[in-house]
Amino acid sequence: MNTVADKPHIDGARQRAVVSALAAFLPAHALLFEREDVQPYECDGLSAFRQLPMVVALPETEAEVQRILTTCHALRVPVVARGAGTGLSGGALPSGDGVLLSLARCMRILEIDPASRVARVQPGVRNLAISEAAAQYGLYYAPDPSSQIACTIGGNVAENSGGIHCLKYGLTVHNILKLRAFTIEGELLEIGGDGLDAAGYDLLPLLTGSEGLLAVITEVTVKLLPNPERTQCILAAFDDVAKAGRAVANIIAAGIIPAGLEMMDKITIGAVEPFVQAGYPLDAAAILLCESDGNKAEVAEEIERMKAVLQASGASEIRVSANEAERDRFWAGRKAAFPAAGRVSPDYYCMDGTIPKKALPHALDAIAALSEKYGLRCMNVFHAGDGNLHPLILYDANQPGELEKTAQFGMEILLLSIEVGGTITGEHGVGVEKIDSMCVQFKPLELAMFHGIKACFDQHALLNPGKAVPTLHRCAEFGRMHVHAGQQKFPDLPRF
Ligand SMILES: Cc1cc2nc3c(=O)[nH]c(=O)nc-3n(C[C@H](O)[C@H](O)[C@H](O)COP(=O)(O)OP(=O)(O)OC[C@H]3O[C@@H](n4cnc5c(N)ncnc54)[C@H](O)[C@@H]3O)c2cc1C
Repeated sequence: MNTVADKPHIDGARQRAVVSALAAFLPAHALLFEREDVQPYECDGLSAFRQLPMVVALPETEAEVQRILTTCHALRVPVVARGAGTGLSGGALPSGDGVLLSLARCMRILEIDPASRVARVQPGVRNLAISEAAAQYGLYYAPDPSSQIACTIGGNVAENSGGIHCLKYGLTVHNILKLRAFTIEGELLEIGGDGLDAAGYDLLPLLTGSEGLLAVITEVTVKLLPNPERTQCILAAFDDVAKAGRAVANIIAAGIIPAGLEMMDKITIGAVEPFVQAGYPLDAAAILLCESDGNKAEVAEEIERMKAVLQASGASEIRVSANEAERDRFWAGRKAAFPAAGRVSPDYYCMDGTIPKKALPHALDAIAALSEKYGLRCMNVFHAGDGNLHPLILYDANQPGELEKTAQFGMEILLLSIEVGGTITGEHGVGVEKIDSMCVQFKPLELAMFHGIKACFDQHALLNPGKAVPTLHRCAEFGRMHVHAGQQKFPDLPRF
């Protein structure tokens, strides 16, 4: 893992020039530049990568965001946008010679329109806060990353975040209508609209998932959904992980779209149970959580259909939540899986690859083989219905060489995802973490197109430089190291 070293020194003259330019319009409390003040911003959720920013700016208004951008553009200073810093791919890792632009104080809910079922919010509003505010109208915002208590809607848009309910209701991109955003030159972009279609190229999906490389989002209009009349969850246990994987594919093949379809393997169950005391079957090799929502009749029918498929797929035990308290208990372990990893291991590394659902049993076997090969334990907890894997590799950074081994293990999981027809990211983005894997996923022409798009928005490559899209030179280097023309690309991978 190419962890970025702590910034050895600051170009003091440059820092003074930038601080003084920004201080012309930002109050003192909105500008941080002392080492102890900027330290909390040195990393996001991927803490193996750290870098102190030269300056942190904390605007509260759109006008301030715009002026920060025009100022940085004029001085040719890199800018990295940051929401809550819960990202898991190093997307909000600061530039050592740049401004870390925190949107955390832009946190107002500007409007909730129950008639149109939309909310207009500033980018620093927390994901969960939208549903909390909409609850008075019987509405909610569907995409629900497990980090929803902390992560911001701006970060969700920049990462095109998903969550448990995205199988049925779509990712962030399917649940937003409009964006206001500013280019690095301080030009306002108003993207999207109220209608289902519009003339011209569709820039809304382009900006969604652009990881802060194209523009800084200052306002998001999200769609709201009515709260379902009823929600019920099945907990199904399996004595074999591959059987659980096949059950997932069977549910989807039966034409059922559950509101959530998640899997946890034995090591995950063992880690979370003492933490949440949900009553999970500790002898199971894997459990599936299958949720249904809708009106009472729909839910009753869907639960029966899912039970039948799970039974036919070899479930050893099936429980159906009898009430909300039990449903919450079923989910408690899934929601606490990442913190629980911290209880069973000094460090963990969360991977994020997506594969076709039919490849799930193979992929789980292959990950188990890799776990043995590297001598590192791996918790599998993931959005099974989306084929979105989240293997948590458990390691100890204090053991010499273990971090590097972990990174190599993670890289093999990503390459495995590509080999079985999937992608290197499901929802956590590329950031700095997966930049080399992009060289495998995309052809040079496709990468050149990405660079062309970047140049249209940001000619001097000042927004979030060095993230998400590798240079062709970097890919050539990576290819020389890893790809042998005409041979099997990844000879170490387990074959199916
Ligand atoms: C315990 C845990 C569980 C998680 N579970 C999930 C999950 O279920 N699903 C999921 O998708 N993710 C999950 N994540 C990852 C993370 O929470 C999401 O990627 C989230 O969307 C990041 O939001 P943030 O506000 O923290 O953004 P940050 O981490 O601050 O930034 C993420 C990226 O967005 C850019 N950015 C932030 N704000 C803006 C803006 N206003 N304009 C332009 N660019 C911007 C940044 O430059 C960076 O590239 C999880 C993380 C943790 C720690």
